Amino acid sequence: MENHIYLDNAATTFIFDEILSQMPDIFSKYYANPNSIYSDGQKSRKIIEESRKNICDVVGCSFEEIVFTSCATESNNTIVRGVAETQSKKRKILISPIEHKSVLNPVKFLGKKGFKVEFLKVDKNGVVDIDDLKRKLDEDVFLVCVIHGNNETGVVQDIEYIGKICKERQALFFSDVVQSFLKEEINLDFIDFFSVSGHKLNAPKGIGFFYKKREIDIEPLLYGGGQEKGLRSGTENTQFIKFISDAVYIWSKKHEKFYNHLLSLRDYFEARLKEAIPDIHIVSENVKRLPHISCVIFPHIDAQTMILSLDSKGIAVSSGSACSSGTPEPSHVLLSYGYSKEEALRAVRFSFGIFNNFEEIDKTIEVIKNIYHNYMKFIYSF
Ligand code: PLP
Repeated sequence: MENHIYLDNAATTFIFDEILSQMPDIFSKYYANPNSIYSDGQKSRKIIEESRKNICDVVGCSFEEIVFTSCATESNNTIVRGVAETQSKKRKILISPIEHKSVLNPVKFLGKKGFKVEFLKVDKNGVVDIDDLKRKLDEDVFLVCVIHGNNETGVVQDIEYIGKICKERQALFFSDVVQSFLKEEINLDFIDFFSVSGHKLNAPKGIGFFYKKREIDIEPLLYGGGQEKGLRSGTENTQFIKFISDAVYIWSKKHEKFYNHLLSLRDYFEARLKEAIPDIHIVSENVKRLPHISCVIFPHIDAQTMILSLDSKGIAVSSGSACSSGTPEPSHVLLSYGYSKEEALRAVRFSFGIFNNFEEIDKTIEVIKNIYHNYMKFIYSF
């Protein structure tokens, strides 16, 4: 059955109409390889550099600080592994336990290769413990990785303060801002790298970029023709670079309106859900969170059952648990907050997008209420 209410916008978003409608034209106009010297090639080059300029204007950085990639996973791997490759003396990486797997796994890989990896503590709301960071940030640390807005719970870290501490101790600071970009502020004075993904910003999948401070050198992940100043070889995806730039432009012009809409949807959803099922627990409810993510732990009913029951009624949501082996594994993020495995397996993520409306929230609440009450009736019938 086709989903009619899409509440999984932290996973991916609908493409803006303004981007969809120009696709045929852009694909046919900018077909030429931007590295070719003839005029059609140069037409493609021009559109890439105009797109980069637009992103630089929004970010407030210079041209050479934005590198296009295929996705945030690629950016995150490039940054983490690229920084490690340039280290001759320092050996330690500090990382929060609540990173996306595309940061966590390359760091773990470096751990296997002989780098020292230390995890930072987070409190029960998933906020990084700054005292712990200060204690662990010794002169052997070359990189600190702390995600800005968490993709499962929405919790926002004070990356400006974390970045300041890193700067004082001469460690580089990297933040994955995939979920927070153009929702929260980023102060470029205190961040060395950040990664962004197109498909979380209403652009297509398969395009991303990262910011890297001009004076820092990293090794690329891919060697080849030397595109993107040698940091990302491979023929540039001209059309998708234009689309991510357009999406960034639209978000930058409307970010206040989008933010307020997302926040009011989320707050309305949480208030109504609490009325419907008072025993729910909203993860990190009282700390600063992104406006579009609500992580709810339901009493009794496991996330898989809730997600599949919602799906059967045309509502798409997700959970942070991985299911690669057929049995759901609890989210590493919620476990690090101190939730039990059993609680983590009851957590469902609702994530709102700019195209959602209040009527959809009302419908979703009614469906959740029915699913929950039928489930409880079923359990107590034994
Ligand atoms: N980082 C965060 C916080 C994410 O939410 C995601 C996607 O879910 C990624 C990285 C990976 O993004 P991409 O799909 O562009 O590789």
